[in-house]
Amino acid sequence: MKLYSTQHQSPDVSLEEAIFRGLPPDNGLYMPLSIEKMDSTFFETIQDKSFQEIAEAVCQHLLGADLTKDEIHGIISQSMTFEAPLFDLEKDVEVLELFHGPSMAFKDFGARFMAAIMSHYLLKSKREIRILVATSGDTGGAVAQGFFNTPGISVTILYPKGKVSDIQEKQLTTLGGNVHALEIDGTFDDCQSLVKQAFLDEELRAKFNLASANSINISRLIPQSFYYFAAFAEAKRKGLKMPIVFCVPSGNFGNLSAGLMAYRMGLPVKAFVAACNENKVVPDYLTTGEYKPKTSVETLSNAMDVGNPSNFSRMKLLAGEKWESVRELVKGYFTNDEQTKVSMKEVYDRTGYVMCPHTAVAYDGLQQYKAEVKEEFTGILLSTAHYAKFLPTVETTLGRQVPIPERLSALLSKEKVAISLGTDYAGFKQYLLGK
Ligand SMILES: *Cc1c(COP(=O)(O)O)cnc(C)c1O
Repeated sequence: MKLYSTQHQSPDVSLEEAIFRGLPPDNGLYMPLSIEKMDSTFFETIQDKSFQEIAEAVCQHLLGADLTKDEIHGIISQSMTFEAPLFDLEKDVEVLELFHGPSMAFKDFGARFMAAIMSHYLLKSKREIRILVATSGDTGGAVAQGFFNTPGISVTILYPKGKVSDIQEKQLTTLGGNVHALEIDGTFDDCQSLVKQAFLDEELRAKFNLASANSINISRLIPQSFYYFAAFAEAKRKGLKMPIVFCVPSGNFGNLSAGLMAYRMGLPVKAFVAACNENKVVPDYLTTGEYKPKTSVETLSNAMDVGNPSNFSRMKLLAGEKWESVRELVKGYFTNDEQTKVSMKEVYDRTGYVMCPHTAVAYDGLQQYKAEVKEEFTGILLSTAHYAKFLPTVETTLGRQVPIPERLSALLSKEKVAISLGTDYAGFKQYLLGK
């Protein structure tokens, strides 16, 4: 795979270079030079394939020039170790559960694949890297779990003290080994600014091979396309009504962009619903044709509190670039916290199914879309996190206690190990140099 920068001011690069650089030097985003359609026989027989077989076929199609069949098999069997089942919620509505990985959120797919492919290249060239990542919650957990025990890579995670949930903090601070947690007495922005300064610091760069595990890395996007294909395969096995509409709870629009990549590879999809909370710059763009980034506002679905989505230009290019083409394929809706809670409660009372707030935003977006189209279709909601990661909100909203999966309750009893630091750069640099 060759990749170009969306800013067109830096040279095209190989897959390996795009993965280790993360961002092109001109501050654009890396995009594949071309995305070809897959064979029609792939789609005709997809229902006979497992998740891993589908993932390997998609990888072979995209990365066949960069990796051998055996290497792809190795990377997939190392990273894609959990399933993405469809749950029948109600007539013509399915939930695609993306929370069966180690951190119980969909970011596991991207983080684990990224770790496996980076490790593949590092072992080949006998290099080592040091990953720095700032997190406000979910990303850190997925990265920590994804890179845990990965040869050639050590990870330092910065998180704002007192500003992540108990479960999220335990996910960052209880692994040990090659994963180091820094509790910063400041905000998420302070954490991010420390990481940015480190990347610009010549002395550190000369000493360590620093890399980021940012969500805009192309190696996080590719694996997120797998489950769109797998959901289609499952829909065929179950004999669900066609066509399919995917409804994606969105923040930085990486997940939706991955769906559009699958669409470009030929996956039959009627439309994508971009479901947002009150951070609705994309639904506004789809309505007006104008893209106006805003300061984000806090909501219950906090992993989607983004006012200037980092994958916006990717999404636009993948959906056809012109506003008219984008709005043909992507339908934008938004909701507020009040309605999110109403949906969580209503669905629970009627079906017994517990949704996290992000999934509820998607549910609400799908209802709005349904009210506007006449044709019948199967709506597939992407459920991006397990409800237990948002326990206080869920229990207050449903007015009762809900069961916590074994994996999360075991985590809560583990001991936190983190180094406390302030927000000054000198202290952070000292820490890095002293390690
Ligand atoms: C990151 C995240 C999202 C948003 O995904 P994007 O790819 O940024 O649009 C939605 N839900 C949860 C639970 C997340 O962690």
